[in-house]
Amino acid sequence: MGIGLYIHIPFCLKKCNYCDFISYGFKPALVKAYLTALDKEMALYSNSLPPEEKQLETIYIGGGTPTCLRANELYEVLKACRHYFTWPPEIEVTVEANPGTVDLEKLTVLRRENVNRLSLGVQTDSDNLLQVLGRQHTFEQAVEAVCLARQAGFSNLNLDLIFGIPGQTLTSWRECLAKTVNLSPQHVSIYNLQLEEETPLWKKVKSGQLKTCPEETELAMYEQAIEFLKDNNYIQYEISNFAQTGYQCQHNLRYWRNISYLGLGLSAHSYLARCRFNNTENINTYLNCLTEGKLPVSRVEFISKQVEMQETVFLGLRLMQGLDLIKFFARFGCCIEDVFTAQLKNLLYLGLVEINGLSLRLTKNGLPVANFVFREFV
Ligand code: SF4
Repeated sequence: MGIGLYIHIPFCLKKCNYCDFISYGFKPALVKAYLTALDKEMALYSNSLPPEEKQLETIYIGGGTPTCLRANELYEVLKACRHYFTWPPEIEVTVEANPGTVDLEKLTVLRRENVNRLSLGVQTDSDNLLQVLGRQHTFEQAVEAVCLARQAGFSNLNLDLIFGIPGQTLTSWRECLAKTVNLSPQHVSIYNLQLEEETPLWKKVKSGQLKTCPEETELAMYEQAIEFLKDNNYIQYEISNFAQTGYQCQHNLRYWRNISYLGLGLSAHSYLARCRFNNTENINTYLNCLTEGKLPVSRVEFISKQVEMQETVFLGLRLMQGLDLIKFFARFGCCIEDVFTAQLKNLLYLGLVEINGLSLRLTKNGLPVANFVFREFV
């Protein structure tokens, strides 16, 4: 069985107000050094992985903002992937992009190099709310980016949206959903804004300059999105993800099915052969390790069968179709009811999960309290 390959590009035009990811401004010398290191990291894995783990089933280039890179730099990253790994032509290849960092040349290069899915961080249709978030683009630029992507030949587009932004109302969220659907993306992801400590947005809320959305409004927004997207033929297949038929994100499905992936780049995470490991979060350490010909791995965790079962259950419950009980048995040689007897009894009694045919899944009541359900299995 092959792997999903994730490549992290930690550069952004400017830090957004709500973001606590590790990202750096675009400095040509740093970007050059980073891409050289990334190439070396690919070479190290290429020399050490068995052939089946070099066979790619999905590729996902995320960030940061991968489209901060220039067209020739994006081309070099893709060329290196092709050189070091086995990349069948038909697999899903996603690149994350932000409006304002794409042009026809860049998108054409991506499409020509077999990138067949573009994930655009639109976030909201309101320029005021985009300013609250500290995004570096307007909604008009997002619309333009969608048009350019179509022009370049992309027929699989995801648009990311955020709800629960200070100042956002149920009415404005509905308008945002309507304008998003009007752009005819194949896939829509919706995320509830998280206030991360010490971010500029958090500080503004803490000092009283901005007011958070009440929790009940956020819940109503989530429910409204589920209804609205369903009415517009988007099938909810995961807690935050909706797709037209045949357009589920194959790469992200690997995470929720708890199957192998390799992450390359700063702070990237991997899961191979019951082993989780992640790269350093320090860019100098990352660059130095690879200059010395060493992998920049900072943490390794061997996963026991018990932990793998727990993770498989709570990740699988994120999917609307739920966890396939036959596959669980085939993978672990035991029935889920025998391993998690008490947890299942409790959650079934509370009506938060259900066994539907041969799958275990969240109920409608379980969906808004999914994190509580997941904690039962940790
Ligand atoms: S574009 Fe994404 S990664 Fe970059 S600062 Fe904004 S939220 Fe963070």
